[in-house]
Amino acid sequence: MAGEPQADCLFCKIAAGDVPATIVRETDTTVAFRDINPQAPTHVLVIPRAHYADAASLAAAAPELAADVLREAGQVAEDEKAEAGYRIVFNTGSGAGQTVFHAHAHVLGGRGLQWPPG
Ligand code: C5P
Repeated sequence: MAGEPQADCLFCKIAAGDVPATIVRETDTTVAFRDINPQAPTHVLVIPRAHYADAASLAAAAPELAADVLREAGQVAEDEKAEAGYRIVFNTGSGAGQTVFHAHAHVLGGRGLQWPPG
């Protein structure tokens, strides 16, 4: 059922505290943790605690939760002092590089970011 924890989902396990992660922020509905393979000085993932496969299904089923994720992403950037600018990315689908099918925002900052991304 939409939003229910999935036994085989890595990010559900991180949200539950069953897999370790370097957590930087937590709310009742979201968890933010450092990406294990950082692509920038700031590279934090923000996930909803509830399981949705990607950003679009999250926004369609639970728009307030999608807003929580976006708000937390902005808060991470503020905490990390990414004043020069930062990027919030939702890779969606394997063709876009999505490898973990639990919705997550990448917050990238702390260096110059090229456009368009690769
Ligand atoms: O957008 P995508 O699905 O590729 O992002 C998944 C991200 O999860 C990757 O950047 C990967 O480094 C990160 N990851 C992590 N901790 C894990 C496994 C993956 O931060 N234990």
